[in-house]
Amino acid sequence: MYNSMNALFGWSQFGAVLFALSFLDLVIVKAADSEETVTLLFTNDVESVYDPIEAFWLDDMEMIGGIAEMTMLINELRKTKPNVFLFDSGDIFTGALAKSTQGELAFELMRTMDYDTMAIGNHEFEYGHEVFARQKNRAPFPVLAANFFYKDTNIPYAQAHAVIERDGIRIGVIGIMGQDAVSAINPNFIAPLDVTDPVVAVQKSIDELRDKVDLIVLLTHQGKTAPMQTDAESDPRLRRDIDADLFLAGAVQGADVLFAGHADAGRPSAVVHPKTGTLIMQTYGQGPHLGYLQLTLDEETKAIR
Ligand SMILES: [Zn+2]
Repeated sequence: MYNSMNALFGWSQFGAVLFALSFLDLVIVKAADSEETVTLLFTNDVESVYDPIEAFWLDDMEMIGGIAEMTMLINELRKTKPNVFLFDSGDIFTGALAKSTQGELAFELMRTMDYDTMAIGNHEFEYGHEVFARQKNRAPFPVLAANFFYKDTNIPYAQAHAVIERDGIRIGVIGIMGQDAVSAINPNFIAPLDVTDPVVAVQKSIDELRDKVDLIVLLTHQGKTAPMQTDAESDPRLRRDIDADLFLAGAVQGADVLFAGHADAGRPSAVVHPKTGTLIMQTYGQGPHLGYLQLTLDEETKAIR
């Protein structure tokens, strides 16, 4: 069973957060002895936006977000919720702060916030593949991309997948970038790399992981590229969507959850793929929300109830 009501928390609305958590507590209390609960937190497209941003679309608050409040909320959830994991679906770099530190600040903050793992986004290549390789290799958590290889070889540029284990629950996490996001990268910055078909790469990782883990989570960076804060954003023909994620979730077998990035196509609750049952979620990006998904697993089989 999953509960994605209030799945995206605007944490400046702390009352709403408390209400949502109280409701979820009721779900936990009702869980039978043979069940256990997993709490998955996720971000996408933070893009080095660390200060609160103007909440021009809301009537009841002026500012929303900010890395300090996000960290406070994550730590609160770690204290109050069972088995909390924290993921990011890419685009941690861009902007002046990232540029002046060549991305080091983003990784330092994520280290402090104790992320479990992340997928690579197109913005991560803004200072070239070598700069990013240096930063990702220093990170104290796995930085994932299953479909990046050094040109004309099968030598991976990054780790394809990772197993994160906590309190007896093992989650296999796979990172992947789609063609639209790849096309947003300056080709010179990834010239020595090949990017392969996401479906093939993801299925290969799932097949390697499936028997070793309880849950498979995809961190995808794909979908339609944002029109970058121009008037075009209000053009419905350019509206970003989750088509690429729906396609991938239907094309691979064995993915339980897909946390998406790149399209900034936020959803207030999970979309369930009609064929495979994969749960698809994404936040709006630039950090005004923390993604939240709570799953109830059968204690014996670890199947989602
Ligand atoms: Zn992106």
